[in-house]
Amino acid sequence: MLYYNINNPVEKVSLFSAVMRSVSENTGLYMPETIPCFPESFFREMRDNELPGIAYQVTRPLMTPDIPDESIKLITSDALNFDIPLERLDENIYVLELFHGPTYAFKDVGARFLAGVLGYITQSLNRKITVLVATSGDTGGAVANAFAGKEGIKVVILYPSGRVSRVQEFQLKYAAPNITAIELEGDFDDCQRLVRTAFADRELNEKIILTSANSINFARLFPQSVYYFYALAQMENITSPVVISVPSGNFGNLTAGLIASKMGLPVSRFIASTNINNSVPLYLETGKFVPHPSYHTISNAMDVGNPGNFQRMLSLFGNDYSQIKKALAGYWFTDEQTIEAMHELYEKYSYIADPHSAVAYLGLKSYMAGAPSTGIFLATAHPGKFPEEVEKATGVKVTLPVSDSEPVWKSEHFKAPDDYNFLREFLSSTF
Ligand SMILES: *Cc1c(COP(=O)(O)O)cnc(C)c1O
Repeated sequence: MLYYNINNPVEKVSLFSAVMRSVSENTGLYMPETIPCFPESFFREMRDNELPGIAYQVTRPLMTPDIPDESIKLITSDALNFDIPLERLDENIYVLELFHGPTYAFKDVGARFLAGVLGYITQSLNRKITVLVATSGDTGGAVANAFAGKEGIKVVILYPSGRVSRVQEFQLKYAAPNITAIELEGDFDDCQRLVRTAFADRELNEKIILTSANSINFARLFPQSVYYFYALAQMENITSPVVISVPSGNFGNLTAGLIASKMGLPVSRFIASTNINNSVPLYLETGKFVPHPSYHTISNAMDVGNPGNFQRMLSLFGNDYSQIKKALAGYWFTDEQTIEAMHELYEKYSYIADPHSAVAYLGLKSYMAGAPSTGIFLATAHPGKFPEEVEKATGVKVTLPVSDSEPVWKSEHFKAPDDYNFLREFLSSTF
């Protein structure tokens, strides 16, 4: 399987190159040349299969032959070693809970799979890799946890000082010695700017292999296709078309869903649900994509005004607006509506949702009001990660399943100025 650069489709690279580079020199994202469709029998047999088995079958076509089957099996069973249950709320509304991984965010799936693939690459090429990532919260924790102790890989995480939650900072500071958490004296945009500068720095990239752990990296995005299959495998007696609502920010999760449907997954419509960072729902309404600066909301992992994976979504439909409209509906919501939805979920179904998942519920409800369907919304974070918002909406005090027990390992951690030269110096010395 080869991967092409969206900004220059004649440029094709191997799986290893696409994963190690994350983006091309002209900042184009990589996509697989073809997406194979599964035969009918796959969907019948899927029901008798467990999550790791489905994960192996779904990811294999895009990983083979670069990674041998035995290793794909190990990578997938290690990445998806926690359950992803589908809960039924009423006759035709389901919630797919993606937050039962080690850091209670759906980003565990992608981060763990990427760590497995990069671990395989470092071993087979006998090269060392530096992973660089900027985080406003959940990405950093999932990446630190997934890469903790991985041989031949160092991870450098930039986060804005004073802007991440206590739990999130804890996950960054107590991972492992191969993880460096840099607390930047700046905001998230400053972190992102420094990371982009580092990826564009030719001299640095000749010295070390610098890889991104954001969803611009195909190996972080693609494993998320797996749970869309697993959701349908858990359903019985589907009597109306299935629609899936995805709470979206950078649109990696939704792109993975669209890839699953190219592979033949019988979903009639995907729903792009966002907060007021609504460039994609507005695109679906008007046909014009107008990125905007990010606005702060209570579903802060979705505060993205210029989603990086939008180009990938377009490429899946050959840039054809009418095709995209057929596959996707879009809705956006305010913080007040989000709190109200959390309240409603609790009153109606005794279900406690975090703000991101509540946005997905709202999108599903809006869609189903006009089209009778069987609906699934994705729950992307454990409600215990957002205790204040949950208490405000429901009156219930929630906590995470385990308290902060004595950490075994510590990351390297320090404060740094918003200064590229400093970061460059540090990255040059990682290996
Ligand atoms: C990252 C994140 C999202 C958005 O996912 P994208 O793939 O960037 O669209 C939604 N919810 C939570 C809890 C997240 O951490």
